[in-house]
Amino acid sequence: MDLYGFFAAAAFLFGLLFGSFLNVCIYRLPRGLSIVSPRSACPQCHALIAAYDNIPILSWLLLRGHCRHCKAPISSRYAAVELLTGAMFLASYLGFGGPTLASLKAIVFSFLVIGLVFTDAETHLLPDALTLPGIVLGLGFSIFVPLGSILEQHFTSSSVLAGGFSWQFLSFADSLLGTAIGAGLIYGVGEAYFRLRGIEGMGFGDVKLMAMVGAFLGAGQSLFVLFGASTVGAVYGIAVLMQVRGKRLRRYARVQRPDAAARAWQSASLAMQYMEIPFGVFLGGMALVAMFFGTSVLHWYLGLFR
Ligand SMILES: [Zn+2]
Repeated sequence: MDLYGFFAAAAFLFGLLFGSFLNVCIYRLPRGLSIVSPRSACPQCHALIAAYDNIPILSWLLLRGHCRHCKAPISSRYAAVELLTGAMFLASYLGFGGPTLASLKAIVFSFLVIGLVFTDAETHLLPDALTLPGIVLGLGFSIFVPLGSILEQHFTSSSVLAGGFSWQFLSFADSLLGTAIGAGLIYGVGEAYFRLRGIEGMGFGDVKLMAMVGAFLGAGQSLFVLFGASTVGAVYGIAVLMQVRGKRLRRYARVQRPDAAARAWQSASLAMQYMEIPFGVFLGGMALVAMFFGTSVLHWYLGLFR
């Protein structure tokens, strides 16, 4: 096996291990527990988990998703996070030119986003322990890996500013602008949502998550992530609404209520009002899509107006 292939395999295996560590973070960070000690134990019977039962994917498969001691079920999330992290590390390596700083940046970003998405899905929390260092890392990486965004292209193609700034400066400015736009816009959306529905739709966790996404991806792509995630979130909301309506409609039809249709709508929209949509899941998912395909999508989109 050549060196390129060797590093690719290493990226995948490291991804599995880091995914295993993320599982610890996903369980412990929202509960305010240390991620360093004590050693992992079964949450049901508190038996310590032996090293041979802690091998990513394999252990979960061999134990068929159950604790060795008390046979309590272990969520398939554990295996899913490990496999996804492994796959994303490998995709980052292959997609960003092999052993480069750009791949390392993509790997770090995937790690943080996967941790945040799964924590948000389970607990509706986005821990500062991931988002705040993420903002700093995103800003830091912009000085070493150029952000090829609209801002940079605009500046370098503009005769007034061309040559005056190094790419490091422009890339950092783009990252900083991405942080501000990401955080600012989602804060605005959250405010509008609050005024509209009277309940808190977005927490500060989402604001910090988008600040991190903007720092890593730059201004143009943080807009792409916001619009993409809002669209997917809206489609998801409508799908849930229709599903609830369908269920209620069948129930009311069974008891032959004459106003079944109207009642079903009413009941479904009431359920929607109190449903919490983990928006961080959509933001994070879209951020990973943007990391790989955002630049091509933005170029295609801007090409429509030329
Ligand atoms: Zn157990």
